[in-house]
Amino acid sequence: PERATEIRSLIRDVPGYPHEPIVFRDITPLLADGAALADVVEAFARLCEGDGGHQVDVVAGMEARGFLLGAPLATRLGVGFLPLRKAGKLPPPVERVDYELEYGTAAIELRTGTLRPGARVLLVDDVLATGGTAVAAAELVERCGGEVVSLAFLMELGGLGGRERLAGRTVETLLRVD
Ligand code: IMP
Repeated sequence: PERATEIRSLIRDVPGYPHEPIVFRDITPLLADGAALADVVEAFARLCEGDGGHQVDVVAGMEARGFLLGAPLATRLGVGFLPLRKAGKLPPPVERVDYELEYGTAAIELRTGTLRPGARVLLVDDVLATGGTAVAAAELVERCGGEVVSLAFLMELGGLGGRERLAGRTVETLLRVD
């Protein structure tokens, strides 16, 4: 974004949350700032437009912060939004992908039949850390017949291997912290 430094200053670093040694990146101050939120949505939109743009049919967001950034982006692009939900939130029938977390496992689900076959999908989330969530999300979209054209993140945490795990895919991040 044009005001990357200001955007960064609106993301609060919380050491030791939810537990050591994690430094949690809290985007709620950014969400509460109208100009900054608009700037971020516009920066994501520009990745999809013009020469070299991704020309997407639908935006998909990872629960929960991917919803908060993905839904306004979908509106801005004039396309629909798909929520990729944590397990057990959607009524059946659903497709499900299980994946490993640093501590334990998780699963995400998408309602069967919500994705048009061959739809070009932009995946959106707030933070790329180890990449486990993003890899699972891409697999879920593809299993449901979509084509993942790009994965876009507000913030990439360097040194956790996320970008490496997504090797071969188009990954866009607006901010990076090491
Ligand atoms: P990953 O699967 O390790 O890449 O973690 C990314 C997922 O965990 C995303 O859905 C993020 O929203 C969430 N996440 C991981 N670390 C943070 C953080 O520091 N702040 C906010 N969300 C985080």
